[in-house]
Amino acid sequence: MPDIGFLNGRFMPLDQAMVSVEDRGFQFGDGVYEVIRTYRGVPFQLEAHLGRLERSAKAIALALPYQSREWQDFVLEGIRRGGYAESKVYIQLTRGAAPREHLFPVAARPTAVMTVREMRPIDAALQASGVGVITVEDLRWGRCDIKSVNLLPNVMARQRAKEAGAFEAIFVRGGEVTEGAVSNVMLVRAGVLVTAPEGERILSGVTRALVLALARKEGIPAEERAVSVDELRRADEVFLTGTTVEILPVVRVDGALVGTGKPGALTGLLSERFRSSLG
Ligand code: PLP
Repeated sequence: MPDIGFLNGRFMPLDQAMVSVEDRGFQFGDGVYEVIRTYRGVPFQLEAHLGRLERSAKAIALALPYQSREWQDFVLEGIRRGGYAESKVYIQLTRGAAPREHLFPVAARPTAVMTVREMRPIDAALQASGVGVITVEDLRWGRCDIKSVNLLPNVMARQRAKEAGAFEAIFVRGGEVTEGAVSNVMLVRAGVLVTAPEGERILSGVTRALVLALARKEGIPAEERAVSVDELRRADEVFLTGTTVEILPVVRVDGALVGTGKPGALTGLLSERFRSSLG
């Protein structure tokens, strides 16, 4: 079955979906996006993702061509057409095609793209053993809360991680841990869960919010505050959160073991609660 493409309100096979070379997403990275996955065929946290899409678009003064209700219908229709056991849906929205000029085009209409592909779960062995991460300088811009299609620093960082034999790159800005290239980062020290606060330095992760809520429900103290890279290195447990990684234990930071070098107990408990919350 071909992967599903969607362009400005029309579904088509993905390999037939084309945008102009003058699209501002291509020319300037002038756009925003979202990633949504299904569990048991149902889009997970769809409203939260569409809410963030709306906030990202507003932050770059981009008028959404469709309301949340319409997006919901498109996402459901895309999933239906794909027919996969589990789907991964990308929505990308740019300021449209126009002659190359930095100023916002007066006449251009936004380009709305969606792709639907099969979602393969993260390798169970990785989930069980935990992964290694490297730390890298956070060279991104000052509005990491906007889910912008400008992902070059993330691309460079993740490639560096791969070349270092690690799964993820953790950004560090001025000695503070911000987030991963494709995930948020949490640590546990002396029974307390700690993660960087919401704000312009991180993407406000949908999974991050869920995990914080689950922790609080379990009576695990959770602090949203600046985290130093030294704290990360001294943590008893570290894990990543994100739509694609779910809750993924980290057992090595820059080659040094985290805690005992095995996924920690609180990480395990939260993963278990997360799984059960999926229904
Ligand atoms: N931070 C960054 C930079 C990301 O790209 C992502 C996931 O796409 C996340 C955090 C996690 O966000 P979410 O849990 O909403 O997927």
